[in-house]
Amino acid sequence: MAGNGWGRRLVKAYRVEDGRRFRLKDHDPGDTGGLKSKEHAEKRLKADVERLCDLQDKLYAQDRWAVLLVFQAMDAAGKDGVIKHVMSGLNPQGCQVYSFKGPSAEELDHDFLWRTARCLPERGRIGIFNRSYYEEVLVVRVHPEILAKQKLPLRLVGKRIWKDRFEDIAAHERYLAHNGVVVLKFFLNVSRAEQKRRFLERLDRSEKNWKFSAADAQERQHWKQYMAAYEDAIRETAAEHAPWFVVPADKKWFTRLVVAAAVADALEQLDLAYPEVTAEKRKELAAARVELSGERAGHARPAATRTARPRRKPAARPRRVPARSPAPVVEMEPEEPIEVTLAGAGPDGEGRPG
Ligand code: ATP
Ligand code: MG
Repeated sequence: MAGNGWGRRLVKAYRVEDGRRFRLKDHDPGDTGGLKSKEHAEKRLKADVERLCDLQDKLYAQDRWAVLLVFQAMDAAGKDGVIKHVMSGLNPQGCQVYSFKGPSAEELDHDFLWRTARCLPERGRIGIFNRSYYEEVLVVRVHPEILAKQKLPLRLVGKRIWKDRFEDIAAHERYLAHNGVVVLKFFLNVSRAEQKRRFLERLDRSEKNWKFSAADAQERQHWKQYMAAYEDAIRETAAEHAPWFVVPADKKWFTRLVVAAAVADALEQLDLAYPEVTAEKRKELAAARVELSGERAGHARPAATRTARPRRKPAARPRRVPARSPAPVVEMEPEEPIEVTLAGAGPDGEGRPG
């Protein structure tokens, strides 16, 4: 595998697992880890995506661990592109993406972890949160009027509320870790200048016009408050079992490289393996082989008329095949949602599908 050691070293530079001394200003959004161009990164990205693909296959077959990838960033930092590129080699059946926008009326009627808790990945799956419960200590903190709409009992809305939320989030992530959910959190660290450049590009290029939102551009005015809120969130919730990755995001190709390496690296630390084939299963496989070999022109001979034929070569040992037990029939259904957008009462009135 190309550059596992290199990938590990790269990722380490951006990994935060003890937030006590974390300062955002120590992290340069334009950093490219010494790589000069997209071309330099391409081979490595391809190798990491392939590595990820192999690991996901085992993750799914083993059906023990679940992986939760949380993506947080300012607008135009490239969350969508990272998700698309890094996950490009994955089997969609073992991967779920959820985007969290302003909460719906139903969601506001619950505690703040409710809506994301319902979307946590099952064992064997990689779940991706495009924004998450972290918005509760980011946008909600920057815009106190949002907090006012959350219908909390007034006596609970005091100075301590952010501290309480950090504690709740940290406890939630610890609980997930205890239950076999590997939590990795990514802050795509784009600079204000690069965000401006990307917004202007959205205005200038007709095929990008649809991406531009005046509201996003307005949020820029709160840049400082957002950065302070991100810094605090990372400080308070970085942990060994739920690390943050502060990923330089001014160069999209580098962001993708770091995220792919971080996910592959984390999966590699798990004891992923295809399930052992039991003696009983081996027998079943051998019987199936005999049955299939005896089939001719699409017609199986009735069992009673079958006779053992002398073989020229001894039958090959049954290959170890990735198998999940019990077979998840329901997972084969094509209509299972892959991407679900949890919109608030948006113009199309879309809510959570089934
Ligand atoms: P993109 O702009 O790339 O399409 P996005 O994630 O920014 O992706 P938008 O529809 O632009 O999607 O924005 C979603 C908005 O929902 C963000 O401004 C985010 O801060 C907001 N949001 C998410 N969660 C909450 C929440 N719990 N409370 C209030 N606002 C939230
Ligand atoms: Mg947006």
